[in-house]
Amino acid sequence: MKPTAADKYLIDRIRSGDQGAWSQLIDRFRGRLVSFARAKLPQRADAEDVVQETFIAFIKSLPAFRQESPVESYLFAILRRKISDTYRSPHSRHITLIQDVYAKGASEDSPSNPFSNLASEELTASSYVGRDEDRSAQLASLGEALNALVKNHKANLSFRELQIVELLFYSQLSNSNIAKVMDISQQHIAVIKHRCIKQVRGYIQKCDLPSLGESGIESMLTEVWESARPSCPKRSTIGAYLLETLEKPWAQYVDFHLNKLGCHFCRANLQDLQEQTKEDKTAQIHNRIMESTIGFLHKP
Ligand SMILES: [Zn+2]
Repeated sequence: MKPTAADKYLIDRIRSGDQGAWSQLIDRFRGRLVSFARAKLPQRADAEDVVQETFIAFIKSLPAFRQESPVESYLFAILRRKISDTYRSPHSRHITLIQDVYAKGASEDSPSNPFSNLASEELTASSYVGRDEDRSAQLASLGEALNALVKNHKANLSFRELQIVELLFYSQLSNSNIAKVMDISQQHIAVIKHRCIKQVRGYIQKCDLPSLGESGIESMLTEVWESARPSCPKRSTIGAYLLETLEKPWAQYVDFHLNKLGCHFCRANLQDLQEQTKEDKTAQIHNRIMESTIGFLHKP
């Protein structure tokens, strides 16, 4: 997933030392980052600290940031790293990651340390930008292929298959657990998994993108899924879900993604949107009271 033109413009302004642009970026992402952090660190102050550290790490790493991913994904990658550092610190408390949230009762494939996968990825700000060229090209081509796959599922409203793909590569559930969750046979899951990998491989070949080794695809799919989040609904779609204006198949899918898959990124966005709506209402009430009472104010 590429950064948007708006992202690039904002980053250019921040790079040139524009304080207004920096303040704008903090404003845009702070809410969702704090909501995300709070799911792992229940104390609000801890969540705010870790978000502050995330912004510090972001601004420090800016000279090296190559803008190959959207700012939001980059910020979330730093934040997750910061949270996993907190988890490993002596004062840490139990924190769960997305796949663990949904893998409850599926202990046979839950890692004992929920951050073991994350830690091995070494998604620090510097390593995130400093990956070697080949690997970034492979990740980028896989990201593109996944985007095409997800787009196709969404266009055809084949949400059930998309949900299975999410459970496979995002939540990393086993075929047997997915079979239970989705109430279909394990063989059917295996067919969908095989088809997904075949489609991704086909897309990479068709578009002449850098190819991947036989063993490479599957292990990289989860990594790409976590960093690019190709299936995550847009913020505006989550807003429409909140307002109950989505078409039924979409509403059901978004509901699955938020409440069953339990995507922490989207839940953080949802919570941020809910709080904004509250703030808007508060502001509206405030303005209404002001308008209706201003005439009664004592004039000097
Ligand atoms: Zn999501």
